Amino acid sequence: MSVNYAAGLSPYSDKGQCGLPEIFDSPEELRVKVQELAGMIKRASYVVFHTGAGISTSCGIPDFRGPNGVWTMEEKGLNPKFDTTFENAIPSITHMALLQLQRVGMLKFLISQNVDGLHLRSGFPREQLAELHGNMFVEECTKCGKQYVRDCVVGTMGLKPTGRLCDVPKVRGLRSCRGKLIDTILDWEDSLPEKDLNLANDACRKADLAITLGTSLQIKPSGNLPLLTKRKGGKLVIVNLQPTKHDRYADLRIHGYVDEVMTQLMQHLNIEIPIWTGISTKIESSEQKFKAEIVSNCNGDLNSLECQKSKRESCVEEVSCLPKRTKVETPFI
Ligand SMILES: [Zn+2]
Repeated sequence: MSVNYAAGLSPYSDKGQCGLPEIFDSPEELRVKVQELAGMIKRASYVVFHTGAGISTSCGIPDFRGPNGVWTMEEKGLNPKFDTTFENAIPSITHMALLQLQRVGMLKFLISQNVDGLHLRSGFPREQLAELHGNMFVEECTKCGKQYVRDCVVGTMGLKPTGRLCDVPKVRGLRSCRGKLIDTILDWEDSLPEKDLNLANDACRKADLAITLGTSLQIKPSGNLPLLTKRKGGKLVIVNLQPTKHDRYADLRIHGYVDEVMTQLMQHLNIEIPIWTGISTKIESSEQKFKAEIVSNCNGDLNSLECQKSKRESCVEEVSCLPKRTKVETPFI
């Protein structure tokens, strides 16, 4: 399975502004700004982080609109460069710092547009994470909603049947659910996952500090969510090398590599960044908001399972009331 998830999406003409020049704060500017960010976090009572593809470039996965991003290269008629596969990518300093901030209670909710699965792989708890554009490793039952977190990519994109069936036992263990499993990767203009989006909306409204990392905030509704916090009187911090769609609303803008920013931030907060030691096996949610389980030992070949014979037809019902994933046109504050 190619790491090139973008190639699996439908053609879409307007992908936003790509390849804008990167801005770098001087080392002194960066130090002062990160110190200010640490102060804002200490003073805040409900911090929400928003992450985009920029936090996974150090893992070898290209972003979309950076100088070497997938869409930037596409505009130039070139192919993006992948230094890894999704299966081999490991969580970055930033992923691990976010995990630790959650553990110490300084991060209340995490909203990600990333499909690379690295937040879950870092061990981040599913119930405090909204994956708005899906996850390459997750498939979901169309009948009972159970999510299966695999240790290899599930093989389809665009909410299509993966060819496998749900094996949740029915009450009294008599018969399993047998619902069709579909991938969770949104194509352009697919509706966002309702549960994740609702949790994200609630968290943004509760938050008094929104921090965005490595996203140009050009895709809506994800890119507009940080503005909800702003509208409720909270503060907005944007960490990105390129200019973003909502720079003018930011209380603080930091132009630096996210791993560097998070390293300095954690020093200011006096919190150690944990080292990733392997795929977390504790991602099954204790709450019933997300029925998820990690399934190992697929040996990279999910299609070897017997249920591959199930018909590959779409079984997703269109939910028209949910916002679609499209480019941001108008900011709403
Ligand atoms: Zn099921």
